[in-house]
Amino acid sequence: MPAKFDWRALEKKWQKKWAWAKVYEADPDPRKPKYFVTAAYPYPNSPQHIGHARTYTLADVNARYHRMKGFNTLFPMGFHYTGAPLFAMSKRLSQDDPEIVRTFTNVYGIPRSKLDGLKEPRRMAEYFRDDIKKGMIEIGFSVDWRREFTTTDPLYTRFITWHFEWLNRKGLITRGTHPVAWCPNDRNPVGTVDTQGDIEPEIGESYLVKFERNGVIYPTATLRPETIFGVTNIWINPDAQYVRVHVDGEQWVVNREAVETLQHQNHTVKIEHEFAGKNLLWKSVTNPVTNVTIPILPGQFVEPDAGTGVVMSVPGHAPYDYQALTELKSDATIPADSVQTINDIRPISMIRLDGFSEYPAEDIIKKFGITGQKDVRLEQATKDLYSKEFHNGIMKDNTQIYAGLTVEKARQAIIEDLSKIGKVARLYEIKNGPITCRCGTKVVVHIVDNQWFINYGDPEWKKLAHQCLDQMTILPEERRSEFNYTIDWLRERACARKVGLGTRLPWDKEWTIEALSDSVIYMAYYVLAKYLSKEWVTFKKFERDPDKLSDSFFNYVFLGQGSIEDAVMETGISKRIVEAIRKEFAYFYPVDMRHSAKDLVSNHLTFYIFHHATLFPQDRWPKGIVANGFVLMEGAKMSKSLENIRPLREGIAKFGADPLRIGVLATAELNQDTDFSETLASSIQERLVNLIRQSRKLGRQKVPSKRNYSILDRWMLSRLNNTIETATIAMERLRVREVINMVLYQLDNDVAWYQRRLGPRKLKVDGRNQVLKRVMEAKARMLAPLSPHVAEEIWNTLGNKGMVVEAEWPAVESGLSDNAAEQAESIIRQTLEDTGEILKATGLTPKLIVYYAAAPWKWRIYRQALAYGSDKEERPGDFIKQVMADLGMREIGEPAAHYAAKSIQQVRQMGEALRKFRKEGIDLNEKKIFVEAADFFKRELKADVQIWQEGDDEVYDPTGRAKFAEPYRPAIFLE
Ligand SMILES: [Zn+2]
Repeated sequence: MPAKFDWRALEKKWQKKWAWAKVYEADPDPRKPKYFVTAAYPYPNSPQHIGHARTYTLADVNARYHRMKGFNTLFPMGFHYTGAPLFAMSKRLSQDDPEIVRTFTNVYGIPRSKLDGLKEPRRMAEYFRDDIKKGMIEIGFSVDWRREFTTTDPLYTRFITWHFEWLNRKGLITRGTHPVAWCPNDRNPVGTVDTQGDIEPEIGESYLVKFERNGVIYPTATLRPETIFGVTNIWINPDAQYVRVHVDGEQWVVNREAVETLQHQNHTVKIEHEFAGKNLLWKSVTNPVTNVTIPILPGQFVEPDAGTGVVMSVPGHAPYDYQALTELKSDATIPADSVQTINDIRPISMIRLDGFSEYPAEDIIKKFGITGQKDVRLEQATKDLYSKEFHNGIMKDNTQIYAGLTVEKARQAIIEDLSKIGKVARLYEIKNGPITCRCGTKVVVHIVDNQWFINYGDPEWKKLAHQCLDQMTILPEERRSEFNYTIDWLRERACARKVGLGTRLPWDKEWTIEALSDSVIYMAYYVLAKYLSKEWVTFKKFERDPDKLSDSFFNYVFLGQGSIEDAVMETGISKRIVEAIRKEFAYFYPVDMRHSAKDLVSNHLTFYIFHHATLFPQDRWPKGIVANGFVLMEGAKMSKSLENIRPLREGIAKFGADPLRIGVLATAELNQDTDFSETLASSIQERLVNLIRQSRKLGRQKVPSKRNYSILDRWMLSRLNNTIETATIAMERLRVREVINMVLYQLDNDVAWYQRRLGPRKLKVDGRNQVLKRVMEAKARMLAPLSPHVAEEIWNTLGNKGMVVEAEWPAVESGLSDNAAEQAESIIRQTLEDTGEILKATGLTPKLIVYYAAAPWKWRIYRQALAYGSDKEERPGDFIKQVMADLGMREIGEPAAHYAAKSIQQVRQMGEALRKFRKEGIDLNEKKIFVEAADFFKRELKADVQIWQEGDDEVYDPTGRAKFAEPYRPAIFLE
């Protein structure tokens, strides 16, 4: 049946009803609290794939959950047309780039005949927007589509113009000469959206300290210029090519690759001649600060594509240098006349660091157990030591005027002093490289003159951004440090390009605002977007002439600044409409939860925080961000080259919307990547179809609303209540995997046990149906955010009025929690398992099974032990004395003392949770529990069953088993 189940019919049926009832259209309602959810709007230069489904489904689950919790929930969607990626993609397509053509036809399944129609950026955008929107509807996202827009709409462009003019007035836009990540091929700055794998390039700064030999400069690239006092030698890579170059009027020796790097960074570089690195070996250079002469030695670890290929060696404080020097000392290939030079080198200690010896580099190499220059742990050892010395190190007496300074202060001072005498230069590099542009070229750092920047380096702005972040919920919380890190390292970031669709910089129209700059406050635009279509008669004139929509309008509706009269007068829009927009904005803003995948933390999501923090008053600052992990496909990362990317709509058609929704969420919590597989999807299909089938059996029949519940019924309802409680707590933190596990699996197991316990009676008595129906109804409610179509079907089949997506999330009812019932069932379950074990071990097929519940006096001791056990100070001997102080116990004598010793020991070894659980269920009547379950045991074990209590007058106990009975563990006799 699951294979033949018609998912499409089910989905269409409910999607139509939702649309018809407009259940996802949210308007301000002062009687209800609001909840505003957004997910990063998609970039339509490709179809969405199954990986995208995770972020959007999570946003939808969150929206649906809050709707059911009574929040007036808004979940809108727009489309991001602007920026270089669409442009780049259509360009490559129009050049018939074979890789793109293959991706479009093989992976995306677009017929070749349609490709011509996509070669123009806007047409490509329209095509994929249409496709993405259909997918979002087909998977059942609860989006208010009245608010849809694209970022090239004339009024959006006007909105962005307003935003940028505001930033410019605030002094947050700068023009100047700054390093940017750059594609030499496109001759344009690159950001996340322009790179393969969507990586935001991070720019790192290092220093070129100028060592010298006969007037020629050897610029060593370092992050730690203050360690110049510890330099013992220079490293160069003997196998690399080096050049002597003319740089800004000086003669430099650098490796071949550094030439381009320097040229990109505003240096005039002229190559004089090229030679192999080994020609430099064993010569000597002079330290610009200490004037000491030191040798040039071979270092294989010197990377040709980083820095200048000239590295200063500080073996006392740099693990790499220490390790390289150690290895060099035992290198047999060193020429005989150089062996002495190397052997004479001793590390120099120049930073004092508490907890370390004179030579921290040596200490840390030993601590990590580093085995050689290629050891991967060397990187971590280096990072650890650098950070320790930076924060806690003190410069020693051999560091001249810097002695006594902290490393942090000394670094600044040395840079300043060396700059004054022209002995240091700056070098910028891609810190998280290598990064490749979408065009296939390696991204470099380029210093651009007269480029426009957003100044994220502004300290006041950073402070505001931190303040904003501090008041936000970040899910998972582990991600918060990444946000803090990004806020700290961000500096001037190029905000305009010369290619791509988008809004022109209002004051310099040659430039177009790029994609990560025009997408940071658009959540506010969703409010406006509704009115643009609702009041189109009013707004259509502005579409022709957007400039007529004056700043006063935006200032009033979004910032509450200026007067409504000015906005009305300057725009000619009626007061009623302006007031309605302002009210709606004030109602829905701020965004309560913004959803995205984790890759946007270091760029978009942090920019979002920055801009909201400065533009909007504090009560409009965003309240939360979810940054989830990715989706793996059958255990592997999705990639175009692996061709394991499956378009979302294809996935929906194949697996059904609900199985797909659950499938991308089920295997991990937010922090981790989930793993989607066909096996998983089909097992979810089966489970969901099974639930629909069960609900049909329960049917629409009316059941009596009041009756006396058996212990078993109470157990089932208690389990349900427990599930609701756990699922609600998990849902609040979007621990969706846990919710799925509780609702779809654990609760199902409980229902299965309940039905097994009922046996053939199960569907004959209406009252039983009532319990099952109640469970099923609650389950439909809890499944509604996750698998809304199936939940509707169940809800409807059970005869409920209205739609489950509008129903309330089930409430925890403390009255349903029934510890005694839970204990009773756990005893029965445990006893059934124990009996099964015995039968298996002995191979017996008994005619009769006898259970002996423990004697009342044992229960009394056990209760005493539970109460006593919390006090670990007291000795077991004291407990036994306390028990035996009782006259009744003294009459029982030795067995009582023996059991007292045993029970106190058991209680002390018991976990806290179990002890608490048992303490609460202290009034169990074990014999009664067994008597009520006797039929069940008979049925399960296919034997006669007798129940006795130890000490009963006429007890049947031929082998004297009864005395072994203990609370929670009856004695068992078979014959
Ligand atoms: Zn490029």
